[in-house]
Amino acid sequence: MTEGFETLAIHAGQEADPHTGAVVVPIYATSTYKQDGVGGLRSGYEYSRSANPTRTALEECLAALEGGTRGLAFASGLAAEDAILRALCVPGDHVIIPSDAYGGTYRLFAKVYERWGLTFDPAPLGDIDAVRAAVTDSTRMIWVETPTNPLLGVADIAALAQVAREAGATLVVDNTFASPYLQQPLALGADIVVHSTTKYLGGHSDVVGGALVTADAELGERLAFHQNAMGAVAGPFDAWLTLRGAKTLAVRMDRHCDNAERVVELLSAHPKVTQVLYPGLPGHPGHEAAAKQMRRFGGMVSFRVAGGPDEAVRVCERTRLFTLGESLGGVESLIEHPGRMTHQSVAGSPLEVPDDLVRLSVGIESIDDLLADLTEALR
Ligand code: PLP
Repeated sequence: MTEGFETLAIHAGQEADPHTGAVVVPIYATSTYKQDGVGGLRSGYEYSRSANPTRTALEECLAALEGGTRGLAFASGLAAEDAILRALCVPGDHVIIPSDAYGGTYRLFAKVYERWGLTFDPAPLGDIDAVRAAVTDSTRMIWVETPTNPLLGVADIAALAQVAREAGATLVVDNTFASPYLQQPLALGADIVVHSTTKYLGGHSDVVGGALVTADAELGERLAFHQNAMGAVAGPFDAWLTLRGAKTLAVRMDRHCDNAERVVELLSAHPKVTQVLYPGLPGHPGHEAAAKQMRRFGGMVSFRVAGGPDEAVRVCERTRLFTLGESLGGVESLIEHPGRMTHQSVAGSPLEVPDDLVRLSVGIESIDDLLADLTEALR
């Protein structure tokens, strides 16, 4: 019998320590392992870039949470993304990316991989015909982010899996915003799930990390080879913090969603707000796809402010509980101005975001306090 999500989060990959019975997986702060004779490994571990028991526990847990067979933990989300491109693409290949991807992902393609010989085209992933039209003979990969950062665009993963299959391309889904609790891309036909575990999986804004999960063992092995060969692995303490965060993912996500829904209600009725971007709103263009593939609609909310960029910046600077800062997915609420902060790297590109946009990562504090804080900042 398959165990439930909450059970897997607490137990998958996390047997009691065989030596001491410790219930919590220890932080194996070791770079190397004693061998019983040359090549005689005691436990399968030889060097901590290749594998470390704390990292293995996290990797097994992440694979279980995404319904995959192989999980790999990296030093950051971008390191995980880098490993995918190096492992699966060669110069001359073409990748379709979202027309509103995370700015750092766009920068990786535009400033690093384009020089290396990769070609890419942004396409509106909510429009399947537009994605089909963007496919060329060289398309090797379709890169999906859903919901997107910061515009909360939604792509239909199952429909894109069909386009990728027809094109003979790999479907990569960045599941950072939804987390595996709200959305499971492998079951919908994705080949690789990528995470910035810095966000909801870690959940406490105390660690930077990334992950890949695959259902196909051979693909997992290929990525694992690159993880070791390129070396951007998660260290044992980072892996331990992320694993500790993952244990409470389900309860945190439900509270993030509860609070986000109340924030959306407030913003939608506010005269100073010209547009609220949230996949849970029936008028959101991706609402139907989101309702089909997500358990709930997440803790991220973006909105546009009447009065333009200066007023949007003023709102960001006026909140007290919503901390002005980059990143997202932690227990504490954050506010930011994407145009001048997280998405400055896409200024002047086709991915430029509106300058009156404010992004909220709605935390799990008391909702009345969060609503009062926003009401005061919008006054
Ligand atoms: N993917 C998304 C959707 C993100 O929001 C981020 C970071 O904000 C990343 C990937 C990159 O992750 P990291 O910052 O852990 O390298």
